[in-house]
Amino acid sequence: MVKEEMGKTFLDVMKDKGYNVREYVDLKDYTSLQIGGPARFFSEPYHIEEIKELITTAKELQIPFFVLGNGSNVLVSDHGFDGLIIVTKTNMNTIEVSGTHIKASAGAMLKDVCVRAYEESLTGLEFAYGIPATVGGAVYMNAGAYGGEIKDVLLKCTYLSEDGEIHTMYKDELNFSYRHSYFSDNKDIVLEAEFALDIGKPESIKEIMDDLLNRRKTKQPLEYPSAGSTFKRPEGNYASALIEQSGLKGFQHKNAMVSDKHAGFVINHNQASFGEFIELIEIVKEVVKTKTGYELECEVRIIGEVKDSHNK
Ligand SMILES: Cc1cc2nc3c(=O)[nH]c(=O)nc-3n(C[C@H](O)[C@H](O)[C@H](O)COP(=O)(O)OP(=O)(O)OC[C@H]3O[C@@H](n4cnc5c(N)ncnc54)[C@H](O)[C@@H]3O)c2cc1C
Repeated sequence: MVKEEMGKTFLDVMKDKGYNVREYVDLKDYTSLQIGGPARFFSEPYHIEEIKELITTAKELQIPFFVLGNGSNVLVSDHGFDGLIIVTKTNMNTIEVSGTHIKASAGAMLKDVCVRAYEESLTGLEFAYGIPATVGGAVYMNAGAYGGEIKDVLLKCTYLSEDGEIHTMYKDELNFSYRHSYFSDNKDIVLEAEFALDIGKPESIKEIMDDLLNRRKTKQPLEYPSAGSTFKRPEGNYASALIEQSGLKGFQHKNAMVSDKHAGFVINHNQASFGEFIELIEIVKEVVKTKTGYELECEVRIIGEVKDSHNK
């Protein structure tokens, strides 16, 4: 637990530097699952210097921190987060085009980068149009869809490392694999990404973007809060197919449910708690293991203790 005097010092230091840090902000308002208790400290920085200051001070005072993009791949405990949550999407979202390259801040929404690419007749990012991610979250996760992944279009990435220094790494150094990047293994923070695209025809770029978005609307339960695919694709199979095969499509557990439209999505059906959601994830894993032999792994990042869920 953050010590009272450390918390007070943190707020004082930030106030003295002119940075706004809020307290006890409900994280369910910042996650696509609409689940999650309060963040002890909450900041929406405007620039890199501010992030640097937040992190350095938090570390000095032993306050844990977590960077949130669009919150579309996180499940937050009902107890919230006893530390500092830094949200990038609110104020760090510039997008700049130079020739066939697009540079975007970590908090820019991927869909806005895609629209900008289309406006500039640049092709390559169409696959990402419907992914509800920030650039930072998409790089962290190596987000992908319809045969494309972020690594296919990324040129380089600027980030704040744990030692408080700003570095740039090129794609080949970023250790990308399926839903994994260099950033998945440390606390470094993506600040900016540069994408290298090709010149294309605006009509065909638009046609592909519209088609992929329509496919999502038809196949995914976008009318319910979710975090997209709850589980990673296991080697040689699909999580949704295994869940369906195990008879769990449409299975409801308290207020959480395996979507009856797309079995890969566990949805917040009716104001589910963290505990209910975790319980359903555990049920799905167990049944799928028994019926198919596959061990499903969560794609969603869990913030909080799974043991907290058992008190709910
Ligand atoms: C309806 C729906 C459909 C989806 N479809 C897809 C899909 O087709 N393909 C796909 O891959 N995913 C999909 N997702 C999941 C999700 O959109 C992606 O995982 C996305 O990359 C998460 O981005 P975010 O900005 O929301 O990150 P968050 O959920 O906010 O964070 C995810 C992780 O990234 C880290 N992170 C965020 N920003 C930074 C940063 N600046 N620096 C360092 N770390 C950071 C966080 O700490 C966290 O660990 C879908 C989700 C939903 C709700």
